[in-house]
Amino acid sequence: MEKLSRPTPVPVKREVLVAVTHSGICHSDLHVIEGSYDLGSRGSLDLAKRGLKLPLIPGHEVVGKIVSWGPEADSEDLTVGDTRLVFPWIGCGECPRCRADEQNLCLSTRPMGLASDGGYSTHVLVSDPKYLLDIDGLDPAVAATYACSGVTVFGAIRKLMPLDPEDVIVVIGAGGLGLNAISLLRALGHEWICAVDSGQAKLDAALAQGASRVVLADGNCASTVAKISEACGGRVLSIIDTVNASATAEFAFDALSKGGKLILVGLFGGELKLPLPLMPAKAATLQGSYVGGLAELREVVALAKRGLMPNIPVTPCALDDVNQALGDLRGGKVIGRMVMVIGDDGVAPRPR
Ligand SMILES: [Zn+2]
Ligand SMILES: [Zn+2]
Repeated sequence: MEKLSRPTPVPVKREVLVAVTHSGICHSDLHVIEGSYDLGSRGSLDLAKRGLKLPLIPGHEVVGKIVSWGPEADSEDLTVGDTRLVFPWIGCGECPRCRADEQNLCLSTRPMGLASDGGYSTHVLVSDPKYLLDIDGLDPAVAATYACSGVTVFGAIRKLMPLDPEDVIVVIGAGGLGLNAISLLRALGHEWICAVDSGQAKLDAALAQGASRVVLADGNCASTVAKISEACGGRVLSIIDTVNASATAEFAFDALSKGGKLILVGLFGGELKLPLPLMPAKAATLQGSYVGGLAELREVVALAKRGLMPNIPVTPCALDDVNQALGDLRGGKVIGRMVMVIGDDGVAPRPR
């Protein structure tokens, strides 16, 4: 990734210019930079064919301060200097999905940092004031992560509901998504949460976040399934796979009990080969879940404002260190989320 210098954009129509103070580094940014997703035996999904045009500024977990706005936003309740969380999953604004604030399901979506310039930058241009959320009282570095990892797992959790608080829920992956899933499940009153990861340090973070059980995935499907069954008192009804790689989806499917539901949210890539008779035999449900809508992000922020969501660990870094930070993320070295602190208003970045 290279540094670009551009004139600061001038907002028109209903646009709002925001000076970025915090910008989360998400695993899917690695896919944007690599330009593709792994489709297993079907090859790869080329993001250039899906509308990704270079040069592009990545970054979709953005908090910043309002700088200025276009004339058509004059009637909105905007104040220069106010801190806002940016909803990045911008839709066309006109289709039934967008009108229902389910922009993540819009067929003409233009997500920030994927189809338009994002938050690895000093400024972002937001297309409408309604995409700015008040996060008064929240740690802005943690709130930034709600725009992707928070709302993504919230959407996944909703697909498992209704569940009783004492029902077992397995969360695969204890990165930014997984830790926010544990935080949200705790906020929603769930206490029986089993985290699965291949790294012990990430499992320690999961326990600190509020997981009640942890399982170290060992690369072998059968023995990982046996460990999950042992930790959870048998096969399970509810699993969220925040990694969604060939290996995790395989053991997740095998760990499902009859009538179980597996929600696939990660974009790690690969494929799942299913013995077809097992789908009816297990009466299994496999469901994908892609980020979340504006209404869902508002719900996540409301839960956090009520003090119900324990903060996930955040490591600050500087904008100039982003390539090294991405390397650490690729190498699985990051606990929680790495969040860039940008401009004069953030906390001074820790020396690396
Ligand atoms: Zn739309
Ligand atoms: Zn993301």
